Amino acid sequence: MAKIIDGKAISAQIRAEIKEETAAFAKETGITPGLAVIIVGTDPASQVYVRNKRRACDEVGFYSESYELPEETTMEELIALVDKLNGDEKIHGILCQLPLPKHLDEKEIINRISPEKDVDAFHPVNVGKIMIGDYDFLPCTPAGVMQLIKRSGIEVAGKECVVVGRSNIVGKPQAMLLLHANGTVTVCHSRTKDLAEVCRRADILVAAIGKADFFTGDMVKEGAVVIDVGMNRRADGKLTGDVDFASVEPKASYITPVPGGVGPMTITMLMQNTLTAAKRRVR
Ligand code: NDP
Repeated sequence: MAKIIDGKAISAQIRAEIKEETAAFAKETGITPGLAVIIVGTDPASQVYVRNKRRACDEVGFYSESYELPEETTMEELIALVDKLNGDEKIHGILCQLPLPKHLDEKEIINRISPEKDVDAFHPVNVGKIMIGDYDFLPCTPAGVMQLIKRSGIEVAGKECVVVGRSNIVGKPQAMLLLHANGTVTVCHSRTKDLAEVCRRADILVAAIGKADFFTGDMVKEGAVVIDVGMNRRADGKLTGDVDFASVEPKASYITPVPGGVGPMTITMLMQNTLTAAKRRVR
């Protein structure tokens, strides 16, 4: 029987810490951390995320602004907004909800956000800083995973860590953070040969491929820590991870459920990054 890593509880604990730190910081400096969230178009999932981000800001005592722009917004208009927010003293973090509509250049927008306000940590400057281990912001989802591991009392140093998925927002930075924590890290992807064999080597397995219930019990070593980043919608509308919980849970020592595992951590780490950005302003 695996211990269930309760992402909701850990997330609530971190938010309470952020709220306390925010109040102390505001008292000391008169500065309230501010986050601006930009959303272009009407993607329902993105709208839910944006609403949740605003709610999280209220919860921890941040100032927040949201910009809900129409689908037909041009690059010039979006760049003008980013430039305005880059220069806005009240705003310490800027997040542009991805994906953007096809006619907009995501890369150009990411590069336009000032690295000091890039609380998603997607800007090449911040990605480079993560690579060399000298960073201010960590991408929210991998940072959330590291908190789940740390706060569950799991040691990473010396462990075989297998990350499946190599996206810029999850897999690659996740591998780097596990490496910084002295894990021995293997990164797998769609061209990996004999994936099950590699996964069975893992003391810590991070599943981030976006395929419902893909990782089954036979792919997991007895006693492994299994972190499920996947968020997939089943045909019946239910949310499910990349891990087949029913067959993996009996073999794992720790496991994150979906929902209620990694998911709640992502926005919490965004709050953490925004507070860090505000603190850097006075450093
Ligand atoms: P991407 O689609 O960008 O990347 C998926 C990765 O998985 C790719 O590297 C791909 O390999 C690899 N992959 C796909 N199929 C296989 C396979 N059969 N075997 C091995 N590797 C495979 O996804 P993201 O990284 O953005 O997201 C991954 C999952 O995490 C999704 O379910 C997403 O919804 C979820 N997610 C959850 C978040 C949260 O807050 N909990 C936040 C962000 C994402 P290749 O590179 O070779 O194509």
